[in-house]
Amino acid sequence: MTGCTDTPVLKERGQHEVFCGLTGIIWLHRKMQDAFFLVVGSRTCAHLLQSAAGVMIFAEPRFGTAILEEGDLAGLKDANEELDREVARLLERRPDIRQLFLVGSCPSEVIKLDLARAAERLSAEHAPNVRVLNYSGSGIETTFTQGEDACLAAMVPGLAATDAETLLLVGALPDVVEDQARDLLAAMGITSVQVLPGRRAAADPTVGPNTRYALLQPFLGDTAAALDARGATRIPAPFPFGEEGTTLWLRAVADAFGVDDATFARATDAPRARARKAVAAVAGTLRDKRVFFLPDSQLELPLARFLTRECGMQAVEVGTPFLHAQIMADELALLAEGPRIAEGQDVEKQLDRVRADRPDLTVCGLGLANPLEREGLTTKWAIELVFTPVHFYEQAGDLASLFARPIRRKALLAAGRGDAPVAVAAE
Ligand code: SF4
Repeated sequence: MTGCTDTPVLKERGQHEVFCGLTGIIWLHRKMQDAFFLVVGSRTCAHLLQSAAGVMIFAEPRFGTAILEEGDLAGLKDANEELDREVARLLERRPDIRQLFLVGSCPSEVIKLDLARAAERLSAEHAPNVRVLNYSGSGIETTFTQGEDACLAAMVPGLAATDAETLLLVGALPDVVEDQARDLLAAMGITSVQVLPGRRAAADPTVGPNTRYALLQPFLGDTAAALDARGATRIPAPFPFGEEGTTLWLRAVADAFGVDDATFARATDAPRARARKAVAAVAGTLRDKRVFFLPDSQLELPLARFLTRECGMQAVEVGTPFLHAQIMADELALLAEGPRIAEGQDVEKQLDRVRADRPDLTVCGLGLANPLEREGLTTKWAIELVFTPVHFYEQAGDLASLFARPIRRKALLAAGRGDAPVAVAAE
């Protein structure tokens, strides 16, 4: 099966229209319960975090912004001293913090600060209670899911070494979904399972030459490279979206750990059947509808594979901010020939193609969705796919529903206006 393996990739280099990597803090801070994310940035960065993570207003947050003003440009020494003071104040107030991430951003005054050296200096000062790490969430360097990649990649060099044979799951999933994955693996007899990132610093995984790792998210290329550099081996697989993706992902892990067919079937038959049934209940709304992915989350190729193969949709164009040839090899092979595959962004050109194609559903960032809706196009916000639990069997039906909902809503509105007779499949 070669699918889109040999499809020429349209490389786009132009204006971007996506959130920056700071956005990843919104889900990372929920996952890593004794970590704190200190954004070294401007008021814009603070506003982004506050509005994107508005829900945290009632909780003691595990992220904040050290705002650098124009005046801080006067002297980097002052800026470093100010940062050290902020960190000392924070750690004194919050003795529960075990990992502190200094997160860089794009203002020029931040770029001039050497946050890697600051992290080293502060780590030495606050060891052993707190490990201070740094990564960039700058919009110049990262799109929104790359923030997680940068964060996890920054953690890898500091992970303790091991020679033990273990499976490492890589990616920050909601705890309930991570537990489902562990249960499925345990049912196959794979119990030596670690996760990056751990829920707490003390639970961060160990890594070494006998570590085999499976990516849970497709946007973790730098983290994969960092794990490879520690001697770990990636288990190549499609991503666990939908019944088929989950089964192929589990099968690849099972093969790597010598699980026999009967055990695999015992562990997966029942949840597979549930997932198929849940997807089938929604697929009627999606069948034969045309979907266009603008580049946003790096989830586009696996989702296009799920929507075309399990829900009967037709992909018109699948755009992705980055196409990691090795990590995406299995996905490209599964995706049937037909759609244009695009890497990078040139937003005006892409919008022209959306207008020319008039797809039934356009998956795009928040900033593009409203204008497209005004032009009569139906859209799905890509960011919801990262905030909503969508991995593994039990979420397969919910994943299909996320795409079916805007199509059903559009059909109901059209029916209400009497624009056209519409058949809406029951969910
Ligand atoms: S990191 Fe850059 S793009 Fe992101 S909010 Fe701050 S200034 Fe804006």
